[in-house]
Amino acid sequence: MNTGWEKIMRNEKRCRVIIVGGGPAGSLTALFLLRERPDLAGNILILEAKKFPREKICGGGVSGRVTRRLRELGLNLDALPRVPLKGFTICYQDSRYRPEFGNRDCFVVRRSVLDDFLLRAAADGGAEVRFTPAVGACREGRGVRVMAGDGSLYRAEVLVGADGVNGKSREWFGVSRRGGKTLLLQVDAPFPEEAADLQDSLVLDFTPPRFGIRGYVWFFPSLNEEGERVVNAGITGGDFSRGTARRLRECFHAVLRGHPEMAAAFHQPSFRAYPERRFTPFQRFCVERVVYVGEQLGVDPFTGEGLAVCADSAAAAAGCIARALEEGDFSFREYAAEVRRSPFFPLYLIGTTYWPQSEWGRTCFLLSMSTRLPPGGKMNVIDYYAGVFSGRIPGEELYALRFWRTVLRDAAAVLPRWLASSRRYEN
Ligand SMILES: Cc1cc2nc3c(=O)[nH]c(=O)nc-3n(C[C@H](O)[C@H](O)[C@H](O)COP(=O)(O)OP(=O)(O)OC[C@H]3O[C@@H](n4cnc5c(N)ncnc54)[C@H](O)[C@@H]3O)c2cc1C
Repeated sequence: MNTGWEKIMRNEKRCRVIIVGGGPAGSLTALFLLRERPDLAGNILILEAKKFPREKICGGGVSGRVTRRLRELGLNLDALPRVPLKGFTICYQDSRYRPEFGNRDCFVVRRSVLDDFLLRAAADGGAEVRFTPAVGACREGRGVRVMAGDGSLYRAEVLVGADGVNGKSREWFGVSRRGGKTLLLQVDAPFPEEAADLQDSLVLDFTPPRFGIRGYVWFFPSLNEEGERVVNAGITGGDFSRGTARRLRECFHAVLRGHPEMAAAFHQPSFRAYPERRFTPFQRFCVERVVYVGEQLGVDPFTGEGLAVCADSAAAAAGCIARALEEGDFSFREYAAEVRRSPFFPLYLIGTTYWPQSEWGRTCFLLSMSTRLPPGGKMNVIDYYAGVFSGRIPGEELYALRFWRTVLRDAAAVLPRWLASSRRYEN
């Protein structure tokens, strides 16, 4: 009996690796794989649901660790329109601290531009890009099968789930998610002249925990589609319950009162909402023949940095896939450990220690330490953080005794003031 499937099967296209999602995680996986195995050119397929360049709600902050990854791939960033950065401005309650990055490797870019640049680079390097969604996939025999929205059927040895925060590739293989999902609001506004002092700084204001929101308000200098200066601003840390968007908006405006130089730009902001998923090391990173990268794994819960997870997981995935294709073992047993050894991981560990405190005590002890001016030319915790973020300081320094001595010194110094301010808040 002819069921119609025989014809579809005959038209099935084959390649060695299928990547679902052409965002930075997908493009970078293809680029790292092509660097390790140039012979895979023409055998890597990227399925992308949207036509590029597509808009992506994001702060667009690119850390020095990501820039280093892009350089490893030989990508020339000179033509990429971007805003170079000098450092962070970390705000907490009424204090501000401005740690410098100490190099020129961090910048802000519009995501539509960056993602298009990376996808083109992957296509130029030999990946085939098709603008059609993957609508389902399954493991079958010695490979995976993927059905695309245009009716095509593809077969490959490996599938990479790079379909972002709302992607379905985990569901197709029955892989549960662990890291929680949070809601963010984002808005662009013309860059105010009064804020000229902040035009090369990533402003992160960690006051929202005082309003019961486990997140921060950001102001990033950025560019709009026309290349004009804007402030990319927003608030993180919303949960998915009724009234959250309103509470986030109110909190944003309350925090804005501490930034008079920005106030005029956000008179009546028109926010856009978007979810984010927190990275956790206690999740499934892969299953037989399937590897998850980028925001399928999550973002750093402290700063919301997702591009470092994209770049590091893409590099690790590419190494594991190259070995699997050579050796025929598709369990990807070593992948999770490789991701945990990546440069983003030490900052993830330090960052995660911040949030539990803001839930227990409302006033976060570590944040009080971070905005404290260190004595006589020394570094405080957030100076280390900025150094590792920019790639100037190796992440392993955060496991060293010198760093922990700094933590203890600053903790002892801020404890009395913190106790007093907590009491004031609780009263
Ligand atoms: C408001 C906000 C601000 C942020 N700011 C920063 C920041 O400043 N710095 C930073 O490092 N990170 C930031 N992040 C996090 C960062 O945006 C993400 O971590 C990053 O985009 C993840 O990249 P990705 O490639 O995994 O996913 P995405 O960029 O979401 O790409 C996934 C792609 O998959 C496609 N897709 C989905 N389903 C399918 C399907 N079935 N078939 C085919 N294609 C599919 C989508 O169309 C999309 O193009 C921010 C996030 C938010 C929400």
